[in-house]
Parts: sequence; C-alpha cells; structure tokens
Amino acid sequence: MRHQTDDAENSAANAERELPPSVRGRLIAKLRTGVHVEDAARELGINPQRLFSAARMLPSFEEQLDATLMAERDPDLPHGTVTGYNKRCRCPECRAAINRRF
Ligand SMILES: [Zn+2]
Repeated sequence: MRHQTDDAENSAANAERELPPSVRGRLIAKLRTGVHVEDAARELGINPQRLFSAARMLPSFEEQLDATLMAERDPDLPHGTVTGYNKRCRCPECRAAINRRF
C-alpha cells in the first residue's frame, strides 16, 4: 500500500512536468496583459481544467497565480458567487464559490 506522502510527492512531480517554470512565467505574463486564464492556458498547451489542480501542488506558483487573478479581475463582477464564475471569472473567490457547491 502506498503512503499518502508518496502520492503527494508524485503529484507535485507531475505538476512540475505539466507546469515547468518557463511555462508558469509565460502564463503569468499573459494574464498581466489581460488574456483570460483559460485562453492563456490553452495557448500554452495546458488543459485549463488541469491548471488549477496542478497549481495546488505548487504552492508558490498558486500564490502568484491567485494574486495575478485578483489583480486582473473585473471589479464590476460579483466575486465569490456562481454568477462571477459563470461570467468566466476565475479569481480565487469565484473558484471557491463553485467548489462549495460540489
Ligand atoms: Zn471573481
């Protein structure tokens, strides 16, 4: 039987492979120019669904990603709600609103 830590280390290694530092840097740079996070991910060959779960395994990148999404989000949207998420906002508050539903 495998230990929890082995799986966690494995996932972190997978996340490293999916999101190498150069790709992370390019993703953040795209977000700062106003590109939507899912479009930016696709342009870099990252599955947008995988992006946030991979980012969870890379705490310093997740922090940077969330900070960038917070800085670039549309101030007119109701953040932290499903409405915000449905309007394609992917800031941490809107993602949390969706996660609470499952
Ligand atoms: Zn939001």
